[in-house]
Amino acid sequence: RSFAEYGLSNEINRTLEVLKYETPTEVQSKVIPLALENKDLVVKSQTGSGKTASFGIPICEMLEWEENHPQALVLTPTRELAVQVREDITNIGRLKRIKAMAVYGKEPFSKQKDELKQKTHVVVGTPGRVMDHIEKGTLVLDKIKYFIIDEADEMLSMGFIDTVQTIIEELPLNRVTMVFSATMPKDVESLCHHYMKDPVQIEI
Ligand code: AMP
Repeated sequence: RSFAEYGLSNEINRTLEVLKYETPTEVQSKVIPLALENKDLVVKSQTGSGKTASFGIPICEMLEWEENHPQALVLTPTRELAVQVREDITNIGRLKRIKAMAVYGKEPFSKQKDELKQKTHVVVGTPGRVMDHIEKGTLVLDKIKYFIIDEADEMLSMGFIDTVQTIIEELPLNRVTMVFSATMPKDVESLCHHYMKDPVQIEI
């Protein structure tokens, strides 16, 4: 297995060298080729498996720098994870100058609002604050092509199901959806069943 097999752009391949990612992890070798084909994916895998880069690499590869609206939305259950994912995506997308930002509660809304007004390719956030930005019109989702739910089991067990559903209803239908979860409880399965198009199931 090697990253060279995926036909990634020079910018992304060079970045992987800088980050010293030499060999794809198992989840990456399963997710990256399918994500590059725009398949909907349900991925059962643990933290520490390299799952962030498994979606970070394909979305950074496919995002278009010129486009001035958020093109990818990642939902995370916690602020800490949002910050971590934002950092990983920023690192992977550095040579493409991909701009990722994190939105979460307990940070002033106005600061995030100003940042969202600037060019932002990827928004990573917790459901409540993402919903606030949608309601206030500071986050517009009609150009989202990639939608990722990270740690879906955690998110739903924290009671975010209604908010997550409301957010999904705001997304364009012709998007790609990827759901990552360490476990697959019934509510995660039914969410996937409702909102995804023939998802490929991946288990690590
Ligand atoms: P994650 O499961 O996304 O939290 O990633 C766990 C850690 O593995 C992070 O510190 C990543 O930077 C690192 N990592 C991810 N993919 C690779 C790779 N292919 N080679 C080496 N390290 C990696």
